[in-house]
Amino acid sequence: MGEFDLIRRFFTRPAAAPGVALGVGDDCALLQPTPGMQWAISSDMLVEGRHFFAGTDPQRLGHKALAVNLSDLAACGARPRGFTLALALPEANEAWLQTFAQGLLQLADAHDCPLVGGDTTRGPLNLCVTVFGELPTGQALLRSGARAGDDLYVSGHLGDARLALEALLGRIQLPQPLLQAAQWRLEQPTPRVALGLALRGIASSAIDVSDGLLGDLGHVLRASGTGATVDASIAITLIAACADSEGANCQFDLDFLRQCALAGGDDYELLFTAPAALRSAVAQAAQACCTAVTRIGRIEAEPGLRLVDAQGQALDARRYASFDHFG
Ligand code: ADP
Ligand code: MG
Repeated sequence: MGEFDLIRRFFTRPAAAPGVALGVGDDCALLQPTPGMQWAISSDMLVEGRHFFAGTDPQRLGHKALAVNLSDLAACGARPRGFTLALALPEANEAWLQTFAQGLLQLADAHDCPLVGGDTTRGPLNLCVTVFGELPTGQALLRSGARAGDDLYVSGHLGDARLALEALLGRIQLPQPLLQAAQWRLEQPTPRVALGLALRGIASSAIDVSDGLLGDLGHVLRASGTGATVDASIAITLIAACADSEGANCQFDLDFLRQCALAGGDDYELLFTAPAALRSAVAQAAQACCTAVTRIGRIEAEPGLRLVDAQGQALDARRYASFDHFG
């Protein structure tokens, strides 16, 4: 199977979606912007051995390659319109490609976000997706919009992906069903696209949690010129809580759970701020898209990040630093 057969067989489908004038097959894809809308564009790369283990289920890999990009659109409040895939493969393994394409295109279909182009080359396994979304001009949710007095929220649960990673590395033991649930969260993250759209006009700032809650919050605080107080007791992994309640020989200590929830990456939840006066609007937006949202703190004028426990006692936020590829 040559390069062009491979593209035709696995990555070429009629891209009959609004705004896509031309998909895979020519030198460029042609996308038609809707009048009054801005493009929101983002790229994310997944590298074998760095972002995922060699031998990861290709269906999950296909899903995740697109999911992490859709998560960036969600964080800006943009609606997905299409994406490109630049793919380096060590070999053209048909079974692998079939399964990979299935995971990728299933998620694409679920979001009406067709594959419109890309590049294919031989090399160490590397997946780079660029996603194109749209939003009404001037309405993007940015990192810079948080204001003193705003509430701070996070969607879903944090730390499950880190819990899975620790288990896969053999550093902790999880009972089989919980390991599967955690591994699902690590390998098949759910991009919060509907929530991002629902928060347009409500949230003052947003970011997706890819590198760890406190690190990503740090980006918002720096961009907004504000500080925050975060209640560490709220953000605990759901799966670890289940494990503890089952008493299944895995009583994790509190500091480990905090590491997972506050510093663990790969959650792809939305971290956002909104004026306190809009609490009920936030609750309604979350309910409308069936996504749990938890208030975890407050934005303050005083710069810096203050972390407190359930009793309001100060904790050392520096213990929960995020991952940095060049750190
Ligand atoms: P060019 O040489 O002009 O860059 P290519 O020969 O690399 O074009 O690709 C041919 C067509 O196939 C282009 O439309 C390109 O966007 C598309 N394409 C290549 N690889 C992929 C891929 N992995 N997924 C989707 N489309 C792809
Ligand atoms: Mg060309």
